[in-house]
Amino acid sequence: MEEEKVKVLIIGSGPAGYTAAIYAARAGLNPVLYTGGEPGGQLTTTTEVENFPGYPDGIDGPAMMMELQRQAERFGTVVRFGMVTAVDFSSYPLKVTVDEKHPVVAEAIIISTGASARYLGLPSEARLLNKGVSACAVCDGYFYKGKEVVVVGGGDSAAEEASYLSKLCPKVYMLVRRDELRASKIMQQRVMGKDNIEILWNSEAEEVLGEEEVEGVRIVNNKTGEKKDIPVKGYFVAIGHKPNTEIFKDYIDLDETGYIKIQPGSTKTNVEGVFAAGDVADKHYRQAVTAAGTGCMSALDAEKFLAEKEAELIN
Ligand code: NAP
Repeated sequence: MEEEKVKVLIIGSGPAGYTAAIYAARAGLNPVLYTGGEPGGQLTTTTEVENFPGYPDGIDGPAMMMELQRQAERFGTVVRFGMVTAVDFSSYPLKVTVDEKHPVVAEAIIISTGASARYLGLPSEARLLNKGVSACAVCDGYFYKGKEVVVVGGGDSAAEEASYLSKLCPKVYMLVRRDELRASKIMQQRVMGKDNIEILWNSEAEEVLGEEEVEGVRIVNNKTGEKKDIPVKGYFVAIGHKPNTEIFKDYIDLDETGYIKIQPGSTKTNVEGVFAAGDVADKHYRQAVTAAGTGCMSALDAEKFLAEKEAELIN
């Protein structure tokens, strides 16, 4: 397939990618954005977004992402459904392969591939994935309407998933490995205020039970060693995320947990012309608004880089 030449290539379609696209397009850099396998990113798996400035009544996550896409396209961003499957940053200009067959050469690249849900890693989880095991209550919760479910985790995501499921399910168990929640106060109050959410403290999942579909979960109390089987039809994992950096690891410096290292106060990576924005380079804040902020920074950094490159060529 013939090589396509692109000025600014944006990889990923969350708030970081679309904000980078809005800025790059308005700067006349003709960005091309590849959405990845989950167009709109993590916010498409959330319900109400209540903390993004400018939406005093909250906004539905998928609706917000469609608005961001529309805004990016309005200024000329080319948005394409596709996965970047390989990169070669060993020379300049930068090379990527889309969907294992389409070669693209870019003058600047913004990586905004975000992060994906983590699982505990139990063999039974993998075996029953999508047969009752899920990491997205908003996507799959409806299938468990009227059934009992368990949510693993004690952070904001787990609290949000449990709250969401409590509207559909008669009983929601939250499996929390410590004797306190990591979730913010407001989310803690939300789950504790629900009669049908039961928090099982100091509890860990040992095995997801069931042959063809989830029929229960074996839990162990990590203080007493006591084991118990809870009959549930749905098993939702909400224990955090891992950054989507696998394809970049041969070229881009990553930290010990796989997040992209960026130069402080900028979005520059160790490779000239490659910038990173959003959750893929942020394990601390991980908010839509901070992702959008770094998306903006990455486009400004890319614009400056390209202007300097152009000046070098003229002189
Ligand atoms: P998180 O804050 O890192 O919480 C992860 C939770 O999973 C913690 O309770 C953790 O337990 C537990 N956990 C991790 N590994 C585990 C394991 N192997 N077995 C059992 N439990 C395990 O992740 P998050 O909830 O996905 O949130 C990520 C970020 O997004 C946070 O900054 C959060 O505030 C934000 N967020 C905000 C909202 C909102 O404002 N509406 C919604 C979702 C997420 P320990 O506490 O013991 O480590």
